[in-house]
Amino acid sequence: MRFVSVNKEKFFELVNLLIKQKKERIVGVVKKDDDYIFNDLENAVELCLDYGKPTLLPPGKKYLLPRKETLLKFQNASSEIVNEAKPITLIGVHPYDLWAIKVMNAVFLSEPIDRNYAEKRKNMFIIGVDYLNPHPNSFCASIGTYEIHDGFDLLLTDIGKKYIITIDSEKGEKFIDKYIEFTKEATAIDLLFLDNAVNKAKEKYKLAMPLKKEELPKFLEDKYDNPLWTELAKKCFSCGKCNLVCPTCVCFNIEDKAELNLQEGVREREWHGCALKEFAEVAMGHNFRGKIEQRLRHRIYRKLSYTVSRYGIYGCVGCGRCINSCKAGIASPVEIIKKLNKE
Ligand code: SF4
Ligand code: SF4
Repeated sequence: MRFVSVNKEKFFELVNLLIKQKKERIVGVVKKDDDYIFNDLENAVELCLDYGKPTLLPPGKKYLLPRKETLLKFQNASSEIVNEAKPITLIGVHPYDLWAIKVMNAVFLSEPIDRNYAEKRKNMFIIGVDYLNPHPNSFCASIGTYEIHDGFDLLLTDIGKKYIITIDSEKGEKFIDKYIEFTKEATAIDLLFLDNAVNKAKEKYKLAMPLKKEELPKFLEDKYDNPLWTELAKKCFSCGKCNLVCPTCVCFNIEDKAELNLQEGVREREWHGCALKEFAEVAMGHNFRGKIEQRLRHRIYRKLSYTVSRYGIYGCVGCGRCINSCKAGIASPVEIIKKLNKE
């Protein structure tokens, strides 16, 4: 693995150069009222790389699995596959969101491969940034997602006046070599500062799972009929916000929409969520998760158990977005495990 360093002013200069070149979309984290969002950049000055509260929507989901996407156009008896993948650079992706992209890769890049996702992922260049100011509702240290060593092209670590850049891909190597005048090879001291920054950040988390993550799938095995699910269900609005903001909630619905002439139309996919009542409704109106408690439980099992057994990776990356967005105050995986553990 190769490391270089870049002065902060130089890095922002480089971002402005990328924006001016207009070769691809340059997207980064910007402040919006009291929140942060990933947005197209017009100037590097908009970039916030020391953000603590996770962005409203996760970057992987926003750009690799758009909320609504056309998959196919059809006219008379012929159809045309639609794939709108275009080169894009994301700047400022935190390690937990990089872990979430690994979950998405496990889902969409295993057979049968999702062509739209694969093409978008191929066209994406990711510049991550270490998460050094964790939000009070994040619990990445418990899940092990507070740091990451692969799954990005470049990863910035803020060590004061400069960033240390970890390079993890051929694309990343080429990028650094192309803009070599902006960076210097990192020194042994730089790497000490890097380790120190990440280790210090790990100690800053205020929220923690009461059990080790390896214990969670087994722990949940006999909690399926626990009365807690019914208790929580009394407060749940079934609004689906916990799904919407979650970086690893990747379920979608597919609909064919025909024009009135019935000769042409489109096939679209759109985000869906297991907390919504109609999610598990099948033909003839039967709903196999018709009760709120069944849906609440499913979300937690999917995050902390099912994804582990199916893909060998945790479906919760500890970002805390569900906690930040649930108006009923019941979506926290940590609080749910704490309550189940007390009993
Ligand atoms: S847990 Fe919260 S965010 Fe999720 S569906 Fe229920 S009320 Fe909405
Ligand atoms: S379940 Fe909540 S904390 Fe876990 S990844 Fe999803 S939004 Fe983040």
